[in-house]
Amino acid sequence: MLTFEHQFATLPEPLWVACMPTSVAEPSLIAFNDALATHLGMQARPEDAVLAEWFSGNQLPPGAEPKALGYAGHQFGNFVPQLGDGRALLLGEVIDQLEVRRDIQLKGSGRTPFSRGGDGRSPLGPVLREYLVSEFMAAVGVPTTRALAAVSTGERVVRQMVEPGAVLTRVASSHIRVGTFQFAALRRDGTALKALADHVITRHYPEAANAEDPYLTLLEAVTARQAALVAHWMSLGFIHGVMNTDNCSIAGETIDYGPCAFMEQFDPQKVYSSIDQRGRYAFNNQPAIAQWNLARFAETLLPLMREEGDSVVEQATEIIRRFEPLFDAEQQRFYADKLGLASESTQAATLMERLKTQMHQGWMDMTATFDALTQFAASPNDEQRDALLKLTTQPDELAAWLENWQAAQAASQQNERLDAMRRANPVIIPRNHRIQEVIDAAYEGDFTPFHTLLAVVTQPFDDSFEARRLAAPATESEQVLRTFCGT
Ligand code: AMP
Ligand code: MG
Repeated sequence: MLTFEHQFATLPEPLWVACMPTSVAEPSLIAFNDALATHLGMQARPEDAVLAEWFSGNQLPPGAEPKALGYAGHQFGNFVPQLGDGRALLLGEVIDQLEVRRDIQLKGSGRTPFSRGGDGRSPLGPVLREYLVSEFMAAVGVPTTRALAAVSTGERVVRQMVEPGAVLTRVASSHIRVGTFQFAALRRDGTALKALADHVITRHYPEAANAEDPYLTLLEAVTARQAALVAHWMSLGFIHGVMNTDNCSIAGETIDYGPCAFMEQFDPQKVYSSIDQRGRYAFNNQPAIAQWNLARFAETLLPLMREEGDSVVEQATEIIRRFEPLFDAEQQRFYADKLGLASESTQAATLMERLKTQMHQGWMDMTATFDALTQFAASPNDEQRDALLKLTTQPDELAAWLENWQAAQAASQQNERLDAMRRANPVIIPRNHRIQEVIDAAYEGDFTPFHTLLAVVTQPFDDSFEARRLAAPATESEQVLRTFCGT
């Protein structure tokens, strides 16, 4: 049993609205994250049928008080004053084994006062995608929302085609977004905004409470977490796809997995999302977009800050500018780890820039490249070297790069570095064509591929036969060129 608390409900309304889930015809449990449930304090696992009732919204788990949260947001740069949970409901918060408060949210649980034209539902495909990708992210150590349960509804949802429906139960440090602050800032009296900011400080950034200006310190802390988050994404080739301000978590977690994808062949301008026609959220734009989102966050906080007028704007601007050096420092650490070099190595950045050029020009798969490099570092023999050179269309250039890399590597502590290198370079990522395969099978009623893929992507550093099979890059005919929100 989960022990629910409702601290968010102490915040003034418009920030939340009580709302019941809409029941579904025939809930059936697809997956339940036992390890996460235990971490959240669930001692005994109820029967699958009970879990299916609870996590489809058919019956509320004891103590749950569902609410839809309000938020606004800049979508592709355009401000929308009211978005909100149009198909999600916060059941409440639980305190996990590390004493951290976690939100438990149903996604796809029916219409809410924020649904606008939407049906409040989620098709099965996006539920499985989010489950796989978020659990992979957690396994590699990227801050992320988690997946607790997936339940099929036995109902159909109509999108481009008719699809089976499902509900995802998501766990987050909180569902407070930059857009939540934008929503609160629209209320002129300032009480909702201050209550929200104070809630966030107590919940996520308690060290800010005693600062000279808590709200400026809050901005600084959120900026640091976003910089670390996006640097981590980039180190894995992750493209979020919809970095709207409403999908930007104040706690610094990856949230709202939509048309996200891991880059295969390295290309800094890569875009997968079908709705991102101008490439606003292309791979290399992600740091600048995060910084843009933080500037929108800063604007909402200005009225709460101590200084006034020009000087407060200057102070906030200075913090937003600091995103760049913070991001660079984080990125430098990932670069060094991925290349198996000491973090203070001055050569890591240059070597990485050259390797990126190699990967881009030589049509190299990013994950396969770093995996092969890690294996070569572990066993520097001809076989591993050839395996690496096979990944590029320009082996001579890569061979020259490898010599420079080996020279740099010889200068650093080998064993420790190899461990860090392994942890920075997963053997497997959830590849787009594998996710698609899983979804296709699930639409035929077969969830075995889902469970198989989930098992390997949640042990992403393990080198097994199954991992190698599912890790292989897509062949030309398997390639997924576009990803869809599918909402
Ligand atoms: P997303 O693209 O999932 O980040 O959602 C953007 C906004 O659209 C949020 O306010 C969602 O709650 C809302 N939304 C997305 N899909 C639906 C749906 N099927 N029904 C109602 N609202 C939705
Ligand atoms: Mg969203």
